[in-house]
Parts: sequence; structure tokens; C-alpha cells
Amino acid sequence: MSEQTDSESRKLLGRLRDAMASDIAGQARLDEITKLIADSMGTEVCSIYLFRDEETLELCATQGLNKQAVHQTRMRLGEGLVGRVAQKGRVINAADAPQARGFRFMPETGEEIYSSFLGIPVQRLGEKLGVLVVQSKSKREYSADEVYALEVVAMVLAEMAELGAFVGEGAALSARHQQSVLIRGTTGQEGSAQGHVWLHEPRVVVSNPIADDPERELARLHEAVEDLRVGVDKMLRASEGGDGEQLKVLEAYRMFANSKGWMRRMEEDISLGLSAEAAVEKEQSVARARLEQVQDAYLRERLSDLDDLSNRLLRLLTGQGAETGAEMPADPILVARNIGPAELLEYGRSLKAVVLENGSVGSHAAIVARALAIPLVVHAERITTEALTGDHIMVDGDQGIVHLRPDDTVVSAFREKIAMQAQAQERYASIRDKPAVTRCGQTISLHMNAGLMADLPSLAGSGAEGVGLFRTELQFLVRNQMPRRGELSGIYARVLDAAQGKRVVFRTLDIGSDKVLPYMKPNDEPNPALGWRAIRVGLDKPGVMRMQLQALIRAANGRPLTVMFPFVAQFDEYRRARAEVDKAIAREDKLGHVLPSSLEIGAMLETPSLAFAPPKFFQEVDFLSIGGNDLKQFFFAADRENERVRRRYDTLNVSFLTFIERIVERCVATDTPLSFCGEDAGRPVEAMCFAAIGIRTLSMRPASIGPVKSLLRRANLDDLRKIISDARHRGDQSVRPVVMEWLRAQG
Ligand code: PEP
Ligand code: MG
Repeated sequence: MSEQTDSESRKLLGRLRDAMASDIAGQARLDEITKLIADSMGTEVCSIYLFRDEETLELCATQGLNKQAVHQTRMRLGEGLVGRVAQKGRVINAADAPQARGFRFMPETGEEIYSSFLGIPVQRLGEKLGVLVVQSKSKREYSADEVYALEVVAMVLAEMAELGAFVGEGAALSARHQQSVLIRGTTGQEGSAQGHVWLHEPRVVVSNPIADDPERELARLHEAVEDLRVGVDKMLRASEGGDGEQLKVLEAYRMFANSKGWMRRMEEDISLGLSAEAAVEKEQSVARARLEQVQDAYLRERLSDLDDLSNRLLRLLTGQGAETGAEMPADPILVARNIGPAELLEYGRSLKAVVLENGSVGSHAAIVARALAIPLVVHAERITTEALTGDHIMVDGDQGIVHLRPDDTVVSAFREKIAMQAQAQERYASIRDKPAVTRCGQTISLHMNAGLMADLPSLAGSGAEGVGLFRTELQFLVRNQMPRRGELSGIYARVLDAAQGKRVVFRTLDIGSDKVLPYMKPNDEPNPALGWRAIRVGLDKPGVMRMQLQALIRAANGRPLTVMFPFVAQFDEYRRARAEVDKAIAREDKLGHVLPSSLEIGAMLETPSLAFAPPKFFQEVDFLSIGGNDLKQFFFAADRENERVRRRYDTLNVSFLTFIERIVERCVATDTPLSFCGEDAGRPVEAMCFAAIGIRTLSMRPASIGPVKSLLRRANLDDLRKIISDARHRGDQSVRPVVMEWLRAQG
């Protein structure tokens, strides 16, 4: 970079800072800035376009184009050169703009006399804010130095916009982070909630993007990077010999922390007049923009490592830690890019809802959110850039929609929905202690699914008869190392204490597939859902299973014990697992421990194969529970985690219901107790249909017990059975339409 560009650029930034500090309105400030830039760059035109909504850019200030066009000229994202700069987040530098690809002539601006065009995206940490343009009459391409200098200016503009320097009349000038925003994500856990944003990782605010003394800023940068390197090396030493995935991330951190290219770019930014933190943020913005473009998974991961590292560096430079002194709102809704299960558990039930920018339906955080019964929306794009701590937010987990800073109409519609839900809750509470007896006199036994100690208080409140599924993997997932036997038996004992004699079905460790323990070597399997998981891991590496069985026997300590093995696909797997229980009992007996007063050992029916096991299996197993989530995905060959297909097949599809009915018949023939414990058991219409085809025990989320019981108590299963049978004979694909019609007819 030439000395001249350096000092010119610093002079310009100095003037911009004065413009920022001056006591003028947003529009006047923008006008002033375009003039300063045009003068400094020696161009006839300088214009600033800002987004008025996600799709539209508006000319907000200009030096050189017709002033009448300000706030009149608009273009859609991708339209014309300006629209293309914004869309791609990339510079366009054209000597002869009218000949450039994508050029669109805007007659009202009077730009026809200008040949050259340089457009720079104005963006901050992946958030697109607008486009900065300079134009000249002469046909010339701008030099690399000029482009670079203007990029630095664009960065300062982005920072000024963030700080609210351009607030004024008109949609494009209304303050950022004040408009209401609707974000569509994906349902992670149903339920609705309203509250105020709590950012898991608070944004670092750079309040001084421009600096006078580049020497001092360089020294600050070097010092902070040195601290960063030392910190990363320390983390590396601490995790030596540990988890491979974590090491990989740390190695990437170290690589970036020592990267000459990264350092050089930041040094150049500083020499042009940026402060050290603004330089870090500028490069972080560039990396984020690139992250949006690349598809390659490895590169994406590395770019996101760089993003994390930049955040650390920013915290070092600004002194703003994770602790900002902000107070958690009374009704917090957690907003994060992603969150680990342990961190989420730490927040616990204080949260009203969780919104994740990334995350997935099957992530550990989602599993914990489900266990905590907190509404969750994942894939909420841009939520962490849009939301500020304290913003009003409404989360519709049923639809996967988030309303940020909602306007009055949305607020009142949403409040109505919540009020209706509250009314329904009151209704459910009134039947809490009544049995789920149908109109035709059939009693259905309702149990709850659990996975955390925190779930147990729901046992009394929900009206559940017991715990039909206790997912033990959560205790393993939320730790950094394998829990010890004593620890587990303590937890299981407390679960049994809390159940006060009600039956608790402990499902042994169901890992693999989507649930990978942080401290176990991940298996690179092409199809993890069909891979080495659950009972398969338990039988191949029996150490953990034995430890868990021992912990369960000791926890029972003379009380009844019920154990269930997940994902049993053939008889032999059940036999071998049961043999492990017998061995554990014999060992505990020999050691002098008190044995359980009774023992029930069951299996989950989650693969179609088990439905066709020999009759002897049905006779030997103490009970069966249909894991509908897995069973359905294998029945239809449709991945339960894949948004594209997971809702494609209806649970009330005639084929699936017929299949379940066959399982019921086989269990009836051998007198084998059968229950259904997948998510569908908690959906009232589905639950009612299962009851109609002979399922007598359902296990579900505690919050579903009320709605399911309420519908069952109003249902006549004899009539429903006939409706299902008619649909089958007619050749309907799903019984849902006729069942819904029938329900409507009854009001
Ligand atoms: C199921 O598959 O239905 C089930 C209950 O187990 P999970 O959802 O834990 O796989
Ligand atoms: Mg399952």
C-alpha cells in the first residue's frame, strides 16, 4: 500500500469520525459522508444504498447523481450492479459499467454520463447493510489500493450504521434492531412462549472504529494476538491425548493465530486508519461473507473456527467478556448460534424458549430442550445478528416461527393463542386425577417419558401413572467424561425415590446414530441411523452396559426394577442382553448387595424385523414398547432427522396402522404387555387411533398427557375402529381425513 493512499485514507477516516461525532441528523450525516468520500477519492460520484427490507436496496444519499432520486431509486437484491454487489457480498470494479454484466440503467439518477463504477458491499459480521458506490466519467479501473481503502471506509460505515448514526425518516433509515422481524426456522420442540432475548454469546460492540495512532493500534493488536496464541497453546496442552474433534479445532485455532496472511491484512487495515478491534472485525466480516458462499463442509468448519477465534480476539481487545454486566430478563428466551447440552442444562427451566441459528432437530441441545419441555426453534437464520439482549420476542415452536420485536397485531394474535393454551391447560388440570376411560369404557394407561432428574416433579403434576420411558443417555451426553457407576446409581436411586413406588422403565444407553458421546471416538459411518448404535454397542462393548446394569440394581436396592433394551432387531440380541442382566444379578448377589424385589426385562420394538420374531421371543420378553420414532423411519425408509422427508409419511397411513395392529395381535396371542412410547403417543389424534387398534399403554412427554387424556375421554373407540376399517377397505392412503371429519362432526 502506498504511503500516499495510507495518509489519504487516514485523513478521510478522521473526517468520517468528525461526521459521526457531529450533532446532525442521520440524513445530513449521510449526505456529508458521500461528499467527503467523493472529494477524497477524486471521483465525481459517491452514493450510499441501504437495505429498506431484506430484498430491496434504496439510494439513501448521493454526491453527483440527481438528488431527486434519493429515496426514490430502488433495486431488488441481485438487480443491476448495485444489487449484484449486495447479493454476492463482493466488489464490482468496472471501467466501462454500461458494458458490464448485469448493468441496469436508472434514468432518474442521471448516471448515464459516468463510465467507471466501483461498488463495495457494506456488511457487518455477515449482516448485509448496503452498498457504497463511487463512479467517474473517465473509463478507468480503480487500483487495488483504492479498492482496499474504500473497503475500509465501508467497514466504518457498517459500524456507524450499527451504532445508529444514520437513523432518520424513511424505511431504509429506520434504526437497525428496531424494526420487527419474522424469522422462519424449523420446529425443534413444540409449544409457544413470549419473553425477552438473552444472547448466549453477547455481541462485542466496537464503539471506536477509527484511530489516529496506527503505531499504538498495531502494538495493541500484536499484544492481543500474542495473548491469544498463549491461550490457544494452553488449551492445546490441556487437551492433549483427549478428544480428537476438540484437538482438531484447537489445531485450526493455532494455525489461524499464527497465520501471516490474517495478520498482514489486519495490519494493513490499521495502517489505513482503523482501530485494532475494527480491523479484527473487518476481517471477520470478510470471513463470514465467505462462509455464506462456500459449500465444502471442511472449509466451512475452518471458517467458523476463524470466526470463533476472532471473537476471542475482540474480547481481548475490547475487554468485553462473556460477562457484559447485562442482567438476564425475568422471562428469558435464549438466542444462540448453537449451544451444547451441558450449557443448556445449566440454564435449565428458567428459559421460556430457545432459538438457535444453527442447531438441528436431532442435536443434543434439541434432546435436552425436549427433555426440559422448552419450545425450540432451530435453523433460525440471522437471529443472532438481528436480536439484541432485551428485545421482545415471541416463539411459535409449533410452526417454527420467531417474531422479533413484534408489532401490535402480532402481539395480540400471539397472546390470544397463549391464552387459549392456558385455558386448555386448566381444563387438563381438572381431569388430572381422573382415569383415561373412553366413552366405550376402555381404560388406557398413560405414562410419561423422562430423561432428567428435573423431569420427575412432572410425574405428580401431569397425572402420569409412571415413567414409561426413562432415556438414560442424557446423563452420558451432558458430561465430558464417562459417568462413574456410583454417580449413576445415585441418580437412578433418586429417580426411583421421586417416583414413589410408581413404575419407572429404565432404557439402557441408546447411543450411536445421532447421539454421539463427546468422549467416545466418533465412528465415521455412512448411515449412522442404520449403524453401530444402542444395543449393538452394548453387546459389542459390554463394559458400559454391565456398569449401567450394576448401577440400576444397586439403585433399586430391594425395590422393583424395570429395564428395557433399545433397538433390538432380533431375538438373539434380547437373549444376550438378558443374560447380562442375569450375570449382573448373580454378581451383585455374591457381593452381598440387596437385589431388586422384582425384575422386568423388556425390549423396544424399533425395527420392523422384531415384529416378525418367532413366537418364543414374544413369550420370553417381559414386555415390549414400540419406539415409534425409529420404527416409523425404518418402516417408510424416511430419515427422522431429514427435514425433506421426515413429515412426508403420515403416522395415520393405513399401512403403518395395519403394521402396528399386527404387532398388537402378536402380543395379545402371547399375553405380552405392549406400550407405545414414540413422540406420536403424545399427539391426541394419533394416540386415539392407536387406542382404537388395541394399544392400551401410551408413554409421552408430560405436557401431552392432558390433551391426550382429554380426547380419549370423549372418544368412542368402537366407532373409530369402524371408521379405520372402512378407510382401509376403501383403499384410503391415510385415515386422518376421515378421522378429522368424524371429530368435527362430534364438535
Ligand atoms: C423411539 O425411537 O420412538 C424412541 C422412543 O426412542 P428415541 O426417540 O430416543 O430414539
Ligand atoms: Mg429410538
